[in-house]
This record gives sequence, C-alpha cells and structure tokens, in this order.
Amino acid sequence: MTRRSASSTVGALLALALLAVSASAAEPRRIAIAIHGGAGVIPRDQLGPDGGGAYRAGLEEALDAGYAVLEKGGSSLDAVTTAVRLLEDNPLFNAGRGAVLAHDGRAYLDASLMDGKDLAAGAVTGVTTVRHPIELARRVMEASPHVMLSGTGAEEFAAEQGLELVPNEWFITPRRRKELDSVRSGAAQARGQLQGLGTVGAVAVDAAGNLAAATSTGGMTDKRWGRIGDAPIIGAGTYADNAACAVSATGHGEYFIRSVVAYDICALVQYKGWPLARAAKEVVQGKLVRRGGEGGIIAVDPSGGVVMEFNSPGMFRGMRDSTGRRMTAIYEDPR
Ligand code: ASP
Repeated sequence: MTRRSASSTVGALLALALLAVSASAAEPRRIAIAIHGGAGVIPRDQLGPDGGGAYRAGLEEALDAGYAVLEKGGSSLDAVTTAVRLLEDNPLFNAGRGAVLAHDGRAYLDASLMDGKDLAAGAVTGVTTVRHPIELARRVMEASPHVMLSGTGAEEFAAEQGLELVPNEWFITPRRRKELDSVRSGAAQARGQLQGLGTVGAVAVDAAGNLAAATSTGGMTDKRWGRIGDAPIIGAGTYADNAACAVSATGHGEYFIRSVVAYDICALVQYKGWPLARAAKEVVQGKLVRRGGEGGIIAVDPSGGVVMEFNSPGMFRGMRDSTGRRMTAIYEDPR
C-alpha cells in the first residue's frame, strides 16, 4: 500500500468512526419502566365482575405516572418512587393502604429502594403509621447516615422528616380483615393461596442511563413476631446497579431472602455476562423452583431491556418504554 492510499484509508476510517459517534449521539437512549403489583394472583373467577379491570387501571395509572417522570427527563429514582407511592395509596394492592394484616390484626409495612448510579439505598421495616413507606425509605437513603431503620425508630425519623403519618386503621380494609380470618382458620392454606398477594414494586432506566428499583409491601398475611420479608432487604427484594440491572421482587419472602434473589440476578449479569432474561430465568425458574420459592421479579437493564419473570400462576405487572411498548398483564399471557 502506498503512503497516499494508507493515509486515505485512515481518513476514511476516521470519518466512519465520527459518523458512528454522531449517530449514537443523535439517537436518544431508551427509557423504560416496569412495575409489579404482586405475584400469586387471585383466581380468575374471584377477580370481580370487571375481570381484573380495576387492578389493570391501578397498574396503568402508576406505570404512566412513572413513565411521565422519565419522559420529562426525570431520574429513574423519581420515576420508581412516583409509581410505588401511587400503588401504596391504591387499596387493591398489598402496600400502604390495603396492606395485608399481621397475626395481631395490624398492618406492618416494609419498603426499600436503591439507586444504581452510586449504590445508595434506603429501607424501612415494621412501620405502622407512615402513609408512604417508600418515601420514608428514600429519606433514610438521602437524609440519614443509615441504610435501614425499623419500627419506632423509623417512625420517629418519619416525624422528624415531616412525612405524613396516619393511624394504623387507615391502612386496614375489610377485604384484608376477611383474608386474615380465612388464613387463621386454615381455609386459605387449603386453597393453596400465597398469603401476601399484591406487594408492589418498580424498576426504571432514565435518559442518563441510570437504573433504580423500589419495593413496598405489608408482607404476608398472619405474619408474626416482627417478621421481616425480602422487600426491605437490599439484595433480596430490591437491587440496582448501573453495571448490571435493577430488580424488584415479589413472592414468598423467606425463600427470596435465602436465595438473595435480586442481587443474584444482577451478579449473573455482571460476572457471567449473561443477558438479563437468561439470568432472571435461571434464578426464578431454576433456583427458586428447586427450593420451593413461589413468586417473581421485574427487572431492567441499562439498554432499556425489561424482563418480567414469575413461577406463580400470575403476577400483576406492566411495562412501558420509549419504543412505544406499553402493556399490563395479570396471568401468563402476554408475557
Ligand atoms: N415478598 C413479600 C414478603 O415476603 C410478599 C409478596 O411479595 O407477596 O413480605
């Protein structure tokens, strides 16, 4: 090759590289959000006369509110907080108002969230008077030197932070009282129902490529003695790391804690280089099923890929992204 043709080849390569850079700069990043409203799922014949329409409407409201945050250039952390706050106020779901009841007939709430940008995290457990536990988890992350606060200490902090406090009765709905009675009498177990239907969660990736995850729950019906599930445990029910993925889980918490589900999925992505879908399948359909753990997860990766995997009869869920995809579902189809 002559010196002249070599330099023109270098020039052409440079031009190509520049073109590639400007093309990727011109193409906006994919933003995406996914939410869940719990695994397990009510049998079809008990979904109510609208066939689950109210559940879907609740999911859509939260999904669109979270997506609107991302669309305006907001952070994934704000998007997941917004979506979960709305689901906490919706009495159909097991978080905030409408939470399931513990053995003593009261609601004890758990929540956590994580920022994939810097691995900051906040969690609360066993709170009984804070209207939006996810908001409190966020304050723990942003306004305290700690990651997790429990019970009365968490509530004292909530009051100091000026968060809205409500009497415990505010969370309690007649449906959850009936469920507690049915679990206590053994009727629910006889039907093989998962005793904590409706935990909520959200994961998102924003325009800056940052990931976040959030989860909120009342736990399991008839839980006892200060029981803590996976939802407020970073790595079990919630995890986010820009280097891998963001995950929010729902299901039988005792199994999810022992399998460190959310972190395990991200670790497979990060250390094995697996695509998110393969990692989620391995943990939810492989490891959890072998161990007898029922439930599912929602997850998102830095390129905006969303995965919703569950081994229960269904999982209330939804997703929306900037390619125009928007869906909610309860049972297996559509996935
Ligand atoms: N994972 C929650 C817990 O064990 C319950 C659920 O997701 O249904 O507290």
